[in-house]
Amino acid sequence: MTTRTVVSGTANDRWLAADRARMWEDAEVVGVERRAAAALLRLRLVEVPDLLPGQYYLVRLAVDAPPGVVEQAYSLCSSPYPRSTEVEIAVREVPGGRVSPLLARQVEVGDLLQVRGPFGFLTWTEHDGGPLGLVGAGTGVAPLVSIVRYASARRLAVPMTLLCSSRDRMTALLVDELEALARVLPWFKLVHTYTRNAHDPSARYRRRIDADMLAEVFETQEHTPRPTLYYVAGPGDMVIATRSMLGSLGVVDDVIYSEDHA
Ligand SMILES: Cc1cc2nc3c(=O)[nH]c(=O)nc-3n(C[C@H](O)[C@H](O)[C@H](O)COP(=O)(O)OP(=O)(O)OC[C@H]3O[C@@H](n4cnc5c(N)ncnc54)[C@H](O)[C@@H]3O)c2cc1C
Repeated sequence: MTTRTVVSGTANDRWLAADRARMWEDAEVVGVERRAAAALLRLRLVEVPDLLPGQYYLVRLAVDAPPGVVEQAYSLCSSPYPRSTEVEIAVREVPGGRVSPLLARQVEVGDLLQVRGPFGFLTWTEHDGGPLGLVGAGTGVAPLVSIVRYASARRLAVPMTLLCSSRDRMTALLVDELEALARVLPWFKLVHTYTRNAHDPSARYRRRIDADMLAEVFETQEHTPRPTLYYVAGPGDMVIATRSMLGSLGVVDDVIYSEDHA
């Protein structure tokens, strides 16, 4: 028997697959904002979840192609504080993908999505300490945004520097929100590197992340405390390379937390 937890009277169950083991909960899409970099989906869960900043949910859709159902991971970019039934994910369309084009283009307010979570260990709270060195590429920026938003919402003032690698400003995830936070939070620094735009003055760097960049951003800034913890998220090759480069700068592996997004 299929379970259905319809959250509102207008909800649309077209994406729901059979869930005989009752492992999934239904979340209602209550907000959709389609941007060039990603679609921001606001989901309303049935109950207030126990979340840590940086965690992700699995999203499962019924699809036309065999086996008829497919699931993918999406990081929460919202702050888990104050506690709420609503969470936000940022979905970047992968051309030819099974799930992301549907989430990015076709899902609408009122649709129900099956979700499961939270999962993930790329998490931070005030009990973990700091300062933090955050390195994100592509959608790997999303869990780091959740951490910065959480610290802001709790007024924690733990120094954090986010090095954000994107192709260009158009594809930089949540760029306006991050820049707004950097303007008002004296403890938060945002550094962009754009790999495909050699002219944009809003980026400090215009190349892929390398060891010199990591050293300049995190290790040799005179007035910024050196991070005691690093959080790295993005494509697998970027994560491996960044861990290795941080190692070459003398950062021990134990203080580097990372998550692959592909
Ligand atoms: C822990 C975790 C957190 C994640 N968080 C986010 C997030 O916040 N936002 C987000 O948009 N995505 C996120 N992802 C990626 C997401 O789970 C999917 O992999 C992505 O949306 C593609 O799914 P798809 O079904 O559209 O593509 P698929 O049907 O799985 O893949 C289609 C084709 O694209 C290739 N491909 C798959 N993923 C990527 C990629 N990311 N970039 C380039 N090519 C790819 C595949 O090799 C395949 O050839 C996360 C992944 C993980 C593991």
